Amino acid sequence: AMTRIAFIGLGNMGGGMAARLVGAGHEVIAYDLSAEALARAAGRGCTPAASVREAVAGAEAVITMLPAGPQVRAVYEGEILGQAPAGALLIDASTIDVETARAVAEKAAAAGYVFADAPVSGGTAGAEAGTLAFMVGCDEDCFAAIEALLAPMARAVLRAGDHGAGQAAKICNNMLLGISMIGTCEAFALAERLGLEPDKFFEIASKSSGQCWSLTSYSPWPGLVETAPSNRDYSGGFAVAMMLKDLKLAQAAAASNGASTPLGAQAEALYALWDRLGNGGRDFSSMLQFLRGGA
Ligand code: NAD
Repeated sequence: AMTRIAFIGLGNMGGGMAARLVGAGHEVIAYDLSAEALARAAGRGCTPAASVREAVAGAEAVITMLPAGPQVRAVYEGEILGQAPAGALLIDASTIDVETARAVAEKAAAAGYVFADAPVSGGTAGAEAGTLAFMVGCDEDCFAAIEALLAPMARAVLRAGDHGAGQAAKICNNMLLGISMIGTCEAFALAERLGLEPDKFFEIASKSSGQCWSLTSYSPWPGLVETAPSNRDYSGGFAVAMMLKDLKLAQAAAASNGASTPLGAQAEALYALWDRLGNGGRDFSSMLQFLRGGA
């Protein structure tokens, strides 16, 4: 059935996601602070609104895809809660800290809304293709409705647990990814110094206990995995600055919850340095070049 959906935040991710909802036959009322982003969304079938308030008035569901926690808190507290019709389904797909996600969920519930944190994995290509993985934190009895709404944008919609659990799953996954990519890069750099052919190392480790996604699905060494950004001079893919953002969230969460994450801390430090050296826009597998001593 057609649903009236307000979509707030039409950037690299939100633009493609909103277009998938239009493609599924929904009425999508869009708003973004950027006039350019809003015009692009209008060109893809969304109805542009003049403000968040205008977009959410009369919406059955609201989806937000904003940069970080402060924007999410400000938009929900200032412009969505009390403005969207009572009972509307509110879904935040941004990647933010667990504390903010829980605080917004609490305020939303107090104001009579169903809220879910639902960060995604899959990048801009997944947003365009409708093949994102959503990690959802929500009350169990709300999940079916949330899953149905997200379906046109998703290859998987997984409930992680209660409020905040989606964000927790996302930052733990990405911390693991950041660490495993650096480990993969280090192994290639050492193999090279030892005179071991990189493709031989790849072939052997792929069938041994070092096998991991960073190696066999996203090899940082060029020429081994056809779709990997390493074959395009580390362009496209998942930017160093984005990985750094997620590693910072993981470290902040570890600090405030008493977890020991020494490798996560080291990964954050290395990505911060690589970012500082001017590589924030390159794919995160470009860490290989750093560890080989190059640029
Ligand atoms: P982006 O910066 O391209 O888009 C964010 C959009 O939000 C911008 O267009 C901005 O103008 C808009 N915005 C900011 N404040 C606003 C406000 N108050 N009201 C209305 N609009 C506002 O970012 P993105 O790459 O689309 O990422 C969005 C979120 O998704 C982030 O939390 C990011 O960490 C997460 N994410 C991104 C990727 C990726 O590959 N890009 C992958 C997974 C998750």
